[in-house]
Amino acid sequence: MTPLLRTSGLMVRYGPVEAVRGIDFEIGEGEIVAFLGANGAGKSSTLNALVGLVPVHSGTVEFLGRDITHDPAETLAPAGLTLVPEGRRVFNTLSVAENLRMGAYGIREKAAVAEAWDRVYDLFPILAERRGQFAGTLSGGQQQMLAIGRAMMSGPKLLLLDEPSLGLAPLIVEQVFELLVRLRGAGVTLGVVEQNVARSLQIADRGYVLSGGRIVGQGSAAELATSEALSGAYLDG
Ligand code: ATP
Repeated sequence: MTPLLRTSGLMVRYGPVEAVRGIDFEIGEGEIVAFLGANGAGKSSTLNALVGLVPVHSGTVEFLGRDITHDPAETLAPAGLTLVPEGRRVFNTLSVAENLRMGAYGIREKAAVAEAWDRVYDLFPILAERRGQFAGTLSGGQQQMLAIGRAMMSGPKLLLLDEPSLGLAPLIVEQVFELLVRLRGAGVTLGVVEQNVARSLQIADRGYVLSGGRIVGQGSAAELATSEALSGAYLDG
């Protein structure tokens, strides 16, 4: 079966810095795939390159069997590939509903936008309750829900999330992980960068371990949970 997304020799550079050094991985339809590794391993650069936020230096990215390596970022969400970047960047002075509307920028028909709104309010009742409220007045956890909800407005087939639980209180972290499982249940494939390794391996099917811009380990979540590559990647930094 053709994977939903596949990279070959993916490389990202910032001037002389080789952040991602030629990696091959795939994400299959319906999977939750975790990307693990210490700070600076190249996880964010990888996700950002997939959605065109940083240029791919060399190698290829295929999505739904099509080469999207150099496609402009704004074309990818309408095509079904969306990233929730690190740091829940919501627009504080816009309402919850206005923030969500921005996630549907690629959708022209009014009925389709209304459908997206219904789908997201169904998944996130708290956003429906607070739809008229400024995003800046939401708690950190609610802002993360909003950031994920906004990404869901474009109806992604593959949703990538960069550190979705970072900086949240333990109870809220748990809600975020439960939400990811619900999203998969709703038919969305997920690629997740997480520093909460143990919890992310509980919800993931498979994972890749990055270190120094290379893949140093991969396998099922159960295999990775006890893998030396994983503990080594964190010890080496
Ligand atoms: P973190 O969890 O800290 O975000 P990461 O695994 O996501 O780590 P990246 O953020 O992708 O790693 O960083 C990989 C390497 O690229 C690091 O050495 C980092 O310093 C470098 N880097 C990242 N962004 C830039 C940039 N805009 N300019 C120059 N170097 C960068």
